[in-house]
Amino acid sequence: MIENWMYAPGRLKWVTRPEKTGRACVFCQIARGDHKVESLVLHKGKRFMVIMNLYPYTTGHVQVLPIRHVEALEKLTDKEVSEMLILVKKSMKVIKKVLNPVGFNVGLNQGGSASGASINHLHVHVVPRFKTDFGFIDTIGATRVLPERVEDTYKRLKKHEKMME
Ligand SMILES: [Zn+2]
Repeated sequence: MIENWMYAPGRLKWVTRPEKTGRACVFCQIARGDHKVESLVLHKGKRFMVIMNLYPYTTGHVQVLPIRHVEALEKLTDKEVSEMLILVKKSMKVIKKVLNPVGFNVGLNQGGSASGASINHLHVHVVPRFKTDFGFIDTIGATRVLPERVEDTYKRLKKHEKMME
């Protein structure tokens, strides 16, 4: 437990500096259908879309995100928040139907690298969990072992795209 705090107000300006955003946003590129960017789009609606995470934690890991570039949840209208969450729900239904997970982790990282987000474009992770999704290699080998290739999971989920409309 921490018992002492030191304050360094001189650092405030440094720690609250804006992140450098020189790079093109990969999610905006995907939303535009830019073929230079690798992507597996499960569903693209008017304002939100569902894509496969190409570096999944588990089989069936998808991301739900706004099509327009939004960096923070509070920048969405209430109507948009509910629309996004409904799409999260629908994608969970598809994943349940196809992969039959025992549970889910759903969450968002907001605020650039400090939060663990690698892309500064709001996105909700939908991570299905299975009884034995992490084994020995995953724990000590810095390697993720998945029972199915992302492209194959994509094909199986994509068949149920109608459920996400
Ligand atoms: Zn973007």
